[in-house]
Amino acid sequence: EPILIVNDVRLTIDNKPILKGVNLIVEKGEIHSILGPNGAGKSTLASLIMGINGLKSPTEGEIIFKDTLINGKEIFERARLGLTLAWQEPARFEGITVEEYLKISGRNNPDLDVEECLELVGLDKSYLFRYVDDTLSGGERKRVELASVLAMKPDLAILDEPDSGIDFASMEDIAKMIRTMKERGTTVLMITHREEIAEISDRATLMCDGKVVQTGDPKAVGEKFKTMCVKCEVKNPQLV
Ligand code: ADP
Ligand code: MG
Ligand code: MG
Repeated sequence: EPILIVNDVRLTIDNKPILKGVNLIVEKGEIHSILGPNGAGKSTLASLIMGINGLKSPTEGEIIFKDTLINGKEIFERARLGLTLAWQEPARFEGITVEEYLKISGRNNPDLDVEECLELVGLDKSYLFRYVDDTLSGGERKRVELASVLAMKPDLAILDEPDSGIDFASMEDIAKMIRTMKERGTTVLMITHREEIAEISDRATLMCDGKVVQTGDPKAVGEKFKTMCVKCEVKNPQLV
């Protein structure tokens, strides 16, 4: 049963085609990775699904979340429907403590346990009294952001490169946290450009140059990514 359907989505910005007919189905309950090199359009697709960065509607195509067409909907409407996005570059909130931030995030979660959310991302409870601003390192802010997703317990969490810029000791920490989200009923759409991370997912989709190349078994998609991106790199030296 699909929770998210992206149907032939195209996006053109300033006459430049960024997404060129993306098709993607995320099944309820799965961990689904989107793999792809830098510049493939992964974050743009995530922004369109969440309706952020001024991207409320694709130029063409449909985005359907839980049987509702969400093209044009405001961020808060999408959030109310059960959709959340953890940013590639987490925001700062001056004057707000981690505890306040997690309580705000989890205000509709009757089972909220803020200490446990922190623990699951590898932060001890002394972080509750820290501020969500520049006094946290980039990696710490990223962990707090992921803790806020655990606090919210959304139906679908889009995680944009949860592995990037993070000082996690090992991939296992991220993997464990994502599995916990799944166990608690959250479907996870995880964007990454590391195929080791994609391997913890149930299915994966490879994006390149604004298009979906393949969806299927994460190992097979990871292999395709490795071979294809060698070609991409020759075409475009900015790629990873
Ligand atoms: P990825 O997340 O896969 O690395 P992005 O979605 O960030 O890729 O970017 C895809 C392409 O779209 C890049 O070429 C980027 O420069 C371009 N792009 C993204 N946002 C904008 C924008 N607001 N205006 C113009 N070009 C953009
Ligand atoms: Mg990128
Ligand atoms: Mg990106």
